[in-house]
Amino acid sequence: MASIFSKIINGEIPCYKIAENEDYFAFLDINPVQKGHTLVVPKIEKDYIFDYDPEYYAGLWKFAQKIAAAQKKALPCKRIGIAVIGLEVPHAHIHLVPLTNEGDLDFDASKKKTLPAEEMVEIAEKIKKEL
Ligand code: 5GP
Repeated sequence: MASIFSKIINGEIPCYKIAENEDYFAFLDINPVQKGHTLVVPKIEKDYIFDYDPEYYAGLWKFAQKIAAAQKKALPCKRIGIAVIGLEVPHAHIHLVPLTNEGDLDFDASKKKTLPAEEMVEIAEKIKKEL
């Protein structure tokens, strides 16, 4: 069965999309740990990020690098932090999280936010403008 991220990529489930190319897709995390928290997802569905073909794996990070550069320009932060967790959704993905303090990269459920739709749209637009 297709993962929730494949359904997002295929347009069956809505998302706040940031960017897409032939191989990869980026969109805002629905429960961000910080504003602008973005997920970068390979279109080929595999559970574990280190199981990808090396070239395709390298391409994922190259794509993520572009998204992170746009996030850093668009949002108030010191840098963009990276996490690869994958314990919730079994479709590999990179978390890109705008950071100001060390503790900003905290994935404890109690730290996750739900932002109003208008704010999610506004954040996505800001990042897209910097791409
Ligand atoms: P992980 O698998 O890395 O532990 O976490 C999965 C991440 O995907 C979580 O941060 C969660 O908020 C996010 N997520 C789960 N379902 C959806 C969804 O339907 N839409 C979006 N945009 N994000 C989701």
